[in-house]
Amino acid sequence: MIAQFNVPATIITGAGASRELGTQLARLGARRILLVTDAFMVSSGVVDRFVRLLDEAKIEFALFAGVQPDPTDANVGAGLKEYVSHRCDAIVALGGGSPIDAAKAIAVLVNNPEPLSLYQGYHKVPRAGAPLVVIPTTAGTGSEVTKVAVITDTTRDVKMMMLDRHFLPTVALVDFELTLSMPQALTAHVGVDTLTHGIEAYVSSKATPLTDPLALTCIRLVAEHLETAWREPANRAAREGMMLAATLGGLAFANSSVALVHGMSRPIGAMFHVPHGLSNAVLLPTVTRFSLAGAPERYATVAKTMKLCPIDADTEAATEALVRGLVELNSQLQVPALGGCRGVERAKFDAVVEKMAADALASGSPQNNPRVPNSGEIISLYQAAW
Ligand code: NAD
Repeated sequence: MIAQFNVPATIITGAGASRELGTQLARLGARRILLVTDAFMVSSGVVDRFVRLLDEAKIEFALFAGVQPDPTDANVGAGLKEYVSHRCDAIVALGGGSPIDAAKAIAVLVNNPEPLSLYQGYHKVPRAGAPLVVIPTTAGTGSEVTKVAVITDTTRDVKMMMLDRHFLPTVALVDFELTLSMPQALTAHVGVDTLTHGIEAYVSSKATPLTDPLALTCIRLVAEHLETAWREPANRAAREGMMLAATLGGLAFANSSVALVHGMSRPIGAMFHVPHGLSNAVLLPTVTRFSLAGAPERYATVAKTMKLCPIDADTEAATEALVRGLVELNSQLQVPALGGCRGVERAKFDAVVEKMAADALASGSPQNNPRVPNSGEIISLYQAAW
């Protein structure tokens, strides 16, 4: 199999890495940047810290804080307008996956025609976008190192998955100190999102020898650190472990692929506005149980990497331990079932479940799953996760 591996040109990790912002922008020759973020980053004062760094580096900026969680094409359009009207020459994204993905899409549209939906799918962006420096504050989506952007097309109620190397950030500043403020629920949801990236990258039919070690290290770090980060938000070692896991998970899945969990998760986000991490978390145990038969040895390795069974356990015992472990993890982290998520109503769910299954299949992600489902099986899996 021929496989392509793309990463940002520069990834800086460690406590205080985000303070490199001025130096990195100067190196890129940026003079006036668009700072793309969300309302919480402004109200919590995080933006002020970066404004001081920009002032010190004598770099002008325009602030666009209009990104909503699970961003839309409208958010991207509004940000692009700011970029153009302030005649910016580079973009900085500060926040979770939502501001980062919105910034990626703005950067691409600076040098490519609208609408954004032209780029849904794989490798469709003709030209490189504006230079982009990203600073993640959740751990996380891994978006800081991926060539993926996920933006909701509001006219079709579809979360568009766009993958192209032109969505890659130029520089990623991966500073776990910015994640110390995450509340418990967010830590849980984005943490299980990270674990899902590791597992799906490893069991995907597109896994490669380059992505396997990244995926397994991601999985190991989540197993070691997620519950501690959730219980003790100020635990620096756990936060650092989860931040590295998120970045490794991003490097792995973007160069392998995600699979059925992500394929089924996006329609839940588009229909019911369940946050991305949570919609993955509610599906992970059910979809794993369904998928085991397609790659039992690989799932057994996941169980052993997570220390859910003895290293010499046979494949069947290991895969059973994995499903049990994922159910227990959700329960420890107080992740509800699909039916318990805010905003998910049974009547609407029944009315749209067929469209959700069709959208999941159309995204292409389920086709990378070790066991490829048909539409009826996806509907049954949604019902089982209810
Ligand atoms: P998010 O960016 O949507 O943020 C969720 C909430 O957490 C927001 O209210 C935000 O202000 C808040 N928040 C962010 N950092 C915080 C902190 N340090 N302390 C307290 N609150 C904080 O959440 P996310 O899960 O990081 O991103 C989800 C988005 O990322 C979805 O749209 C999803 O589809 C996308 N995603 C993209 C990729 C990719 O490779 N491009 C991968 C996975 C997910």
